[in-house]
Amino acid sequence: MDTIDRPVRGTHAVENQPPPLAGYDLAEHDTALLEGLRREGAGWDEDGLHALGTLAGSEEAIAWGFEANRYLPELRTHDRFGNRIDEVAFHPSWHRLLATAVEHGLHGAPWRDPGHGAHVARAARFFVWSQVESGHGCPVSMTYAAVPVLRRRPDLAALFEPVLTAPVYDPGLRPLRAKRGALCGMAMTEKQGGSDVRANTTRAEPFDGDTYALTGHKWFCSAPMSDAFLVLAQAPDGLTCFFLPRVLPDGTRNGFRIERLKDKLGNRSNASSEIELEHALALRIGDEGRGVATIIEMVNHTRLDCVSGSAALMRQALVQAAHHARHRRAFGGLLADQPLMENVLADLALESEAATTLMLRLAGALGRGGGDAREAAFARIAIALGKYWVCKRAVAHTGEAMECLGGNGYVEETIMPRLYREAPVNSIWEGSGNVNALDLLRALAKQPASREAYFAEVGLAAGVDAHLDRAVAALREELPEGATPPEGAARRIVERMSVVLQTSLLVRHAPSAVADAFCASRLGGEGGLAFGTLPDSADTRAILDRAWPA
Ligand SMILES: Cc1cc2nc3c(=O)[nH]c(=O)nc-3n(C[C@H](O)[C@H](O)[C@H](O)COP(=O)(O)OP(=O)(O)OC[C@H]3O[C@@H](n4cnc5c(N)ncnc54)[C@H](O)[C@@H]3O)c2cc1C
Repeated sequence: MDTIDRPVRGTHAVENQPPPLAGYDLAEHDTALLEGLRREGAGWDEDGLHALGTLAGSEEAIAWGFEANRYLPELRTHDRFGNRIDEVAFHPSWHRLLATAVEHGLHGAPWRDPGHGAHVARAARFFVWSQVESGHGCPVSMTYAAVPVLRRRPDLAALFEPVLTAPVYDPGLRPLRAKRGALCGMAMTEKQGGSDVRANTTRAEPFDGDTYALTGHKWFCSAPMSDAFLVLAQAPDGLTCFFLPRVLPDGTRNGFRIERLKDKLGNRSNASSEIELEHALALRIGDEGRGVATIIEMVNHTRLDCVSGSAALMRQALVQAAHHARHRRAFGGLLADQPLMENVLADLALESEAATTLMLRLAGALGRGGGDAREAAFARIAIALGKYWVCKRAVAHTGEAMECLGGNGYVEETIMPRLYREAPVNSIWEGSGNVNALDLLRALAKQPASREAYFAEVGLAAGVDAHLDRAVAALREELPEGATPPEGAARRIVERMSVVLQTSLLVRHAPSAVADAFCASRLGGEGGLAFGTLPDSADTRAILDRAWPA
């Protein structure tokens, strides 16, 4: 019969779906990144950045990111005979991600080779590689940040810095001297307090010289398979910083037990644990009672990575959203050509560029800060500003970018849910929003040099945009020298200072389409609260074409 002979039409024609976004160099079309890299003195690493960007955009690496988050780390407390082993088993993709990060120096290159722009080059690489997967960035950042703390004890630094900065990924528990490469974690937070570490109860009893025996718990200890940890504990004269190896020099396991792994919202590829310390031997760094002052050396570095990690989330979210909208049709045209979608994407692009530009400026200041007091003062205040604001924006940004993909964006087969779930963590750790904002007010009041450095920096863009000039004048009025603003105003002030700083950077370094729209929408009262509310004057097409060329 006619009807039976006729070829059966499938009901499952796949139409109007974008092609997979793979096989590209993540750095290639990121103009803001490449311009900033050169401006901040790391243009020499362009080839290295493109090589890592190409790997990050490969199908293979994208698959590693998905697998590391699908097959989660598992805690193995005992072996089959009942011996404690306290090991975490990871999917091979986790190891590939981490090995790549280490081999590209993300955990320590600027310490091994502290040339001009070294921290900028490292931040740019971290930014590009984090776009594949964020969780493995945690041990990478902590190792990077631990080195300046370790240097407080030059004898310890001489022993351990070479292995902690070696571009070799060498997992497995062995004494540090037997390792070709090692990673370092940090254990400060306890059940009764994370922000207020003075409440720590872990005890440190003098054992032999500068070796102490630590007993207590830590409520959050990420990357517990690391080879060593910086730990805070109460010594006889108060809270003190220690370097605690997992394995002792004679090959025996230290008194470090992993109780359980956290079941987290995001950052799921990374194991975060609760640990118990029982007479764990550790070496003192800094004087007894100076624990916070000692460990604070790492804060600028971990906070910079919170900015870089959040900027990376935004960049990847934007690229995914723009790619989708450039291929998906609705109501007779491409989504990207619909004026309202173009407004949303351009607004997301502005936020992403502002974050990237600030990240590179901060990394430059951090690198130069060693020999330049003004840059050091600027880094002190601007990294805290960036940490507060860029991390906060990433949460809203990834949510809006997800919506650009419609229902597809809500599905785990895209990277969007992973970006969205990852976003809040950078704001929570290393000084949650309020703590970070209050810290900034203290810096303003007690370190006049950082206040001066801030106003000197934003002053470099004076006279170009009236909105910016007015905003700077208002800030100067609200923050007279030596004043301590009320605590309740901290977020408002910090937010304003951050946006003004970002605007000043864009006015100086970005094309006028970007700078003008950012000024008008963020400072001029011409934008709304959600993304996609740029004023009619905004050249949305030019903004989007710069961010992700068609
Ligand atoms: C995924 C993940 C990994 C982590 N990894 C580690 C790790 O490896 N090592 C480690 O030591 N810790 C780690 N942490 C812990 C993290 O650093 C702490 O959660 C964080 O410092 C906040 O401490 P808390 O949880 O005790 O909250 P609290 O200190 O109780 O703070 C709760 C809230 O109160 C606010 N707050 C605190 N004080 C004030 C104040 N004076 N005024 C106004 N508001 C205030 C805070 O901003 C926060 O919003 C991790 C956390 C997460 C989520």
